[in-house]
Amino acid sequence: MPLTSSQVFSLIFLTALLLNGLLRGWLALRHLHHVAACRDAVPTEFADRITLAEHRKAADYTCAKTRLGLVEFAAGTLLLLALTYGGLLQTTDDFWSRHFAAGGYAYGLALFASVALAGFVIDLPFTLYRTFVLEARFGFNKMTWPLFLADLAKQGLLGAAIGAPLLLCVLWLMAAMGRHWWLYVWVFWLSFNLLALLLYPTLIAPLFNKFTTLDDAGLKARIETLLERCGFRASGLFVMDGSKRSAHGNAYFTGFGAAKRIVFFDTLLTRLAPTEIEAVLAHELGHYRHRHVWQRIALLAALSFGFLWLLGMLITEPWFYAGLGVTSQGTALALILFSLTLPIFTFPLAPLMSHVSRRHEYQADAYAARQTQAADLIAALVKLYRDNAATLTPDPLYSLFYDSHPPATLRIAHLRNA
Ligand SMILES: [Zn+2]
Repeated sequence: MPLTSSQVFSLIFLTALLLNGLLRGWLALRHLHHVAACRDAVPTEFADRITLAEHRKAADYTCAKTRLGLVEFAAGTLLLLALTYGGLLQTTDDFWSRHFAAGGYAYGLALFASVALAGFVIDLPFTLYRTFVLEARFGFNKMTWPLFLADLAKQGLLGAAIGAPLLLCVLWLMAAMGRHWWLYVWVFWLSFNLLALLLYPTLIAPLFNKFTTLDDAGLKARIETLLERCGFRASGLFVMDGSKRSAHGNAYFTGFGAAKRIVFFDTLLTRLAPTEIEAVLAHELGHYRHRHVWQRIALLAALSFGFLWLLGMLITEPWFYAGLGVTSQGTALALILFSLTLPIFTFPLAPLMSHVSRRHEYQADAYAARQTQAADLIAALVKLYRDNAATLTPDPLYSLFYDSHPPATLRIAHLRNA
C-alpha cells in the first residue's frame, strides 16, 4: 500500500527531528570532551594573563552550561512531540473551538496564548536552575527573587501588550488579503522589526535597566575624540546597570538613525582601563561603519520572505496538518505548526549564519585596530574572556554551530596580524 502524503511528511519530519537530535547531541559531546581535554593547560598565548585556576573555572562553567543545554533541548523536543503527535495541540484547538467561533480572532489569540504558556511552563525550571543554581555556583548571579518576579511580570505584560495586537494584525492580513497574504504579512513583519529596533532602546530597555550618561570626564573626553575621529553621531553613550542581574560584562550597539546608542555595562567599565574601553567602543563603531545592522536586516528580510512564501504554500495542504498529528486546519494552527517545526529544518544552516556574524566581528576588530591600538582590544578581550569565564578552547565544530563570535585564539591571532 503506498504511503499517503501526510504519512510521507510525518516520515520526513520525524527523520529530520531525529537527525537534529543526533547532531545536537554529537556536537555537545564533542564540545564537552574537547573542553575537558584542554582543562589542565592554559593555551600558551594566554598563559601570561589567565591563571590555571581561571582557565579551569571557565572549563567547568562551559561544561555545566552545555549539559544543561542538552537537557533543555530534550525537554523542548518532548513538548514538541506532545503538542503534535501527542494530540495536545488538537485537544487545545478543540477546547477553544467550543468556546469561541472556530477560526476567529479570539480563538486564534487563545490558541497562541496556550502554546506560549506551555513553552513558558517547560522553560521556567531551566531558567530558575540556570539563574539561581548554575550562575550562582560560578559567582555570576546577582538576581534576587523580587527582581526575578518583577522581570517575569513585566515580560509577561509586555509580551501580551505587543504580541496580541501583532498577532491580530497578522491573522487579519492572512484572512483578508487573498492568495498573496504572505507578501502583506512580510511587509508588515519587516516594518514591525524596524519599528522595534527604533523604539527598543528608548521605550523597552529602560523598563528593565537604568541607563545613565557616562559621567567620568576623562573617559568621556577620550571617547568623544574617538567618535569625532570616526565621524559618528549617536544619540548617546550610556552606562547600563547590568550588575543588577549578573556579574557578566558586555558592550553593545543598538538602534539606527537618530536612535542609535552605544551601551556599556557598568560591570565592563569598572574592569577595563580607559584605553581598553576606547578599543571596545571602536569595535562597536566598526559594526556601525560597516553597516552591519542593515546587513542583518537585509538577511532577515530575505529569510522571512522565503519562510512566509513557504508557509503560503503549506497552509492549504491538508498533509501539512495531518502529517503533524492535527486534524483541524486554519491560519492560527498553520502559524503555530510552522513556527514549531521550522527550527528543526533550519538548524543545519546555523554555521552559515555564524559565518556571516563572524565576518562582521573580524571586520569590526580590524576597524578598531585601525582607529585605536590592537593591543588594547586584545587586552580588553582577554579580560572579558577571563571575567565571563568564557572558554578559550571550544570544540571548533560546536563553535561553528553555536557561536556568533570567533573563538578567542582565532580572534586574537587576527588582531595580532592586523
Ligand atoms: Zn562585535
